[in-house]
Amino acid sequence: MEEEKKKSKAKIIIPIVLAVIVIAGGAAWYLTRTETKLARAGYDKAQIAEIKQIFSEEEQKALIEVPAQSGILEIAKSDRYQKEHFADYLKDLGEGGNVTDLLHNYDPWVITLRATDGYTEDNLDLYLYHRQDGTAEDAAYTVNYINMSLLYSKSPDYDGKRFEDYEKYRAKRPDKTPEEIVAHVEHAKDYANEKYFIDEYFEKYEAYRAKNPDKSLEEVVRAVNAGIDKPFYTEMVTTDMSKGYLMIVNKYNKLPEGYSPKLESLSGYGNGSMEPTAAAAFRKMVDAGKEAGVKLRSLSPYRSHSLQTWQYQFWVDAHGQEMADRESARPGSSEHETGLAVDINTAVEESHFERTPEYAWLIENCWKYGFILRYLPDSEYITGYVYEPWHYRYVGVVHAEKIMKLGITYEEYYAYYINNPDYPETGGPTE
Ligand SMILES: [Zn+2]
Repeated sequence: MEEEKKKSKAKIIIPIVLAVIVIAGGAAWYLTRTETKLARAGYDKAQIAEIKQIFSEEEQKALIEVPAQSGILEIAKSDRYQKEHFADYLKDLGEGGNVTDLLHNYDPWVITLRATDGYTEDNLDLYLYHRQDGTAEDAAYTVNYINMSLLYSKSPDYDGKRFEDYEKYRAKRPDKTPEEIVAHVEHAKDYANEKYFIDEYFEKYEAYRAKNPDKSLEEVVRAVNAGIDKPFYTEMVTTDMSKGYLMIVNKYNKLPEGYSPKLESLSGYGNGSMEPTAAAAFRKMVDAGKEAGVKLRSLSPYRSHSLQTWQYQFWVDAHGQEMADRESARPGSSEHETGLAVDINTAVEESHFERTPEYAWLIENCWKYGFILRYLPDSEYITGYVYEPWHYRYVGVVHAEKIMKLGITYEEYYAYYINNPDYPETGGPTE
């Protein structure tokens, strides 16, 4: 009997114990479950479902330590979320960081932008709108693009499509305000067909154009390039001697005080002397002319400063200053003082040198020896001198050929091809 009782007791107890073990185990399992812990940290069912999708098991465990209100889920759902910064987000949230700041702080594009010169937090939305790869180059471009666009757009002429043109001009003229830059780019379009347009002179063209509304754009450009937007002998400057054989000497550009070039006699080829290279070129030209049957000789080459002073005064005394300024040069501003100019055969209009075979030969051939006809017909308003078919100037073969072929005054050639800041290395466009 006893045995049987024991057996039946066991029959009842064992399942109970087993049931208790199962229930306790189940409860323990339930309580240690990540979901449960997350729920206890305040996450609701939907959030927990999202967490299970977004985060790794490891990360899910870490989330238990962070209350649901912290915003980590919001961060993770943003397209600016940076997986590799998961631990940093948690740490910063724990220290009271907010969602917006954290998304911002760990955004690689923002990190690159922030390290870039000119970055300002104020324009952040715009930077992000123009979001690019996180390269330093892109960041620099974007920061500059936003910052400058905001400044350019204050101008009434602003056109976003011309941003690159604005920037090109700004690089050249960093002294200009953004509004001046926009105005420049916008109005410079008017001059698109002017071959000799020089960007640097834009304001001068506009000023001259405003004062001379009857003049064509071509006339405006020619006048300003040649410097004749101001009267002769006003604003005289010392010419740029570093230009060597290409130096310009005229009624705006004078030789430095006391200038006296090296000289070589033209003995056997006419009067006087010239700078040695020019003298050698002149002799070659005369020899070539002789073979072609024309007779050339130097009538008046180099003139010393004192001789020029005397000659100019002679004209003033005889005909008055106005006439003297047309026919002679004030001391320091005569090409003859450079040693690079020569009057050939004659120096008076009455002899009509332009009707001689010598002149015809010179016009065809002078450039081959580095000489140009300096004072062209109908160009007195630019050169300041009446047509002088006898006056030739040495500039070297390369430029002489271009000048004679273009048929422009040396004033215009010098402005566009020699002294144009748009061509600082080459000394002028190559066409
Ligand atoms: Zn002369």
